[in-house]
Amino acid sequence: MRDFSGDHTALSLNTATVRKQGPLNEILEACVRLDIRRICPWRDQVQAVGLDRIAAQVRDAGLELSGYCRGGFFPAADATGLKAALDDNRRAVDEAKTLGSPCLVLVVGALPGALNGKAAYTDIALARTQVFDGIAATLEYARQVGMPLAIEPLHPMQAAERACINTLEQALDICEALDPERGGALGVAVDVYHVWWDPKLAAQIARAGREYLLAYHVCDWLLGTRDLLNDRGMMGDGIIELRKLRGWLEAAGYAGAAEVEIFSEHWWSRPLDEVLTTCIERHRSVV
Ligand code: ZN
Repeated sequence: MRDFSGDHTALSLNTATVRKQGPLNEILEACVRLDIRRICPWRDQVQAVGLDRIAAQVRDAGLELSGYCRGGFFPAADATGLKAALDDNRRAVDEAKTLGSPCLVLVVGALPGALNGKAAYTDIALARTQVFDGIAATLEYARQVGMPLAIEPLHPMQAAERACINTLEQALDICEALDPERGGALGVAVDVYHVWWDPKLAAQIARAGREYLLAYHVCDWLLGTRDLLNDRGMMGDGIIELRKLRGWLEAAGYAGAAEVEIFSEHWWSRPLDEVLTTCIERHRSVV
C-alpha cells in the first residue's frame, strides 16, 4: 500500500469542497500555492469562470484532473426530457475532454423532478431502466471521443432525488453489461461516504479490479449527521476506516488519486487556505 505520510502527490481536491470560498480560478491558484497538483472541478464552477479560461489555467499551471463532475441525471418524465438529458451529457463529455479529464463522473439521477420536491413518477425500476439506457447512449459518444465514464453509486438515502444506483454491485453490473471487455470506457467512482456501510464492499472492490476503478473519493461519516447532503466530515473526524478501504482498492490495482470531496456547511465557512491545509494534513495522517 502506498505511503501517503511523506507527501501529498496523491491528493486531489474536488473543488466543491471549497465552492463557497471563491471562484474556481482562485481555488486553483490556492492549490498551486499549496502544491496540490490534482483537482476535480464541477461544471457550474467551470462555467462561472469560463471553460476556455479554466482549461488554459489548468494547462499553464501543470495541474492534472482526477475527474470532472458531473454527468448523469438520465431519467425523465417524457421523451423530450430524456433527449435533453442525453444532449447535456454529451456536452459534459466534451467539456471533460477540453479539460483533459481522465473520466466524467456520473451521478445517474433517480425519480425525475424529485430533486425539486415533486416526482413525476414513483417507479424506481423505471428510473433504473432509463439510467441504464442513458449510460448506454452516452457511452457510445464517449467511446468515440475517448472519455471514460465513471458511475458513482450514491448512498441509498439519495435514491429518490439523486441516484437510483446505490451500491457498487449495481454499478458493476452495468459496467459488465456495457463494457464486458473491461476496455476502460466505463467504470466506477468509489466514494467512501456512499459505500462505507456496504457489507459487500470489499468483495465488490475486488470484483471491480483495476480496469473499473476509475476514481476514489474521500471524506468521513460524522456521528450525529445533521444534514444528509451537506454535513460530510473531514477525513479523520468520523468513523470510516479510510486506510482499510484504500488498502482494498490498492490490492485491486488502483493507483490513482485520493480525491477529497467534502460538502459541508462547516468547512464552507472556513478560510480557503485553512481547509486546504487541513486536507493535506489529514491526507498524510489518516487517508
Ligand atoms: Zn463523490
